[in-house]
Amino acid sequence: MTVVAPPRHPGEHGNRGRREVRTVLGSRRSIAPGEGQASMRVLLVEDNAELVALLVKGLARSGFSADTVGNAADAAYSLAAMRYAAIVLDLGLPDQDGLSLLRSIRGRGDSTPVLVLTARDGVSDRVNGLRAGADDYLVKPFAMDELVARLQALLRRPGNLLGRELTFGNVSLETVGRRVFVDGTVRVFPARETAILEILLRRGGNVVPKRLFEDQLFGLSGDVGSNAVEVYVHRLRKMLQDCGATVKIHTVRGVGYLLAEEKAAA
Ligand code: CA
Repeated sequence: MTVVAPPRHPGEHGNRGRREVRTVLGSRRSIAPGEGQASMRVLLVEDNAELVALLVKGLARSGFSADTVGNAADAAYSLAAMRYAAIVLDLGLPDQDGLSLLRSIRGRGDSTPVLVLTARDGVSDRVNGLRAGADDYLVKPFAMDELVARLQALLRRPGNLLGRELTFGNVSLETVGRRVFVDGTVRVFPARETAILEILLRRGGNVVPKRLFEDQLFGLSGDVGSNAVEVYVHRLRKMLQDCGATVKIHTVRGVGYLLAEEKAAA
């Protein structure tokens, strides 16, 4: 049984290997994966590290930023903390069958589009996947372009996250377009401040642990400076204040942060 995805020789670093990777990934768009882009955030649930590395790179080239987790438990944790434009879900996970995870996602009423990846090619697996709530299905091995095309198709469907807004007080955020509105006016916030705002808006009125910001801001495996979150929260707090937001970020010492609506002074 072949569970291997492209490229055939992922370990190669010579010119030949590199050219091969480029061929596999294709070159659809020139959007840089850098900050400040209106990138769509997807959760990639896949335990094959080589495949993950390829997918992250390929997705970034097409304007997606991917958070990656290697098992169902971590996926559940990420999904509880964050709303994603789409989920790319491998069915063969080390701790739980991907289908069970998918059923629990749908069981919670979460309708985030899910693209299932699997080495299984049988008709019954495909049917089970779709029955469990998958929106689409890709059998390994597949071409990166194909994955991107399927994801884009899912995101064009009505009822998905495109255009969805999170609102608290007079502050709104388009979850996919990444535009922030204060009192109906578009405000330009940098990517990380926007990411912090999104987390706070999703939990409006509830305390968000600091650790959660670290995970979401800098990737689940990244190194975070000890006061980085404070710095970004401080900036965001000032930005909100400067544009007349009716919400304010409160620090809950030793725990995290809380977004609360301020009562008008007069
Ligand atoms: Ca797997």
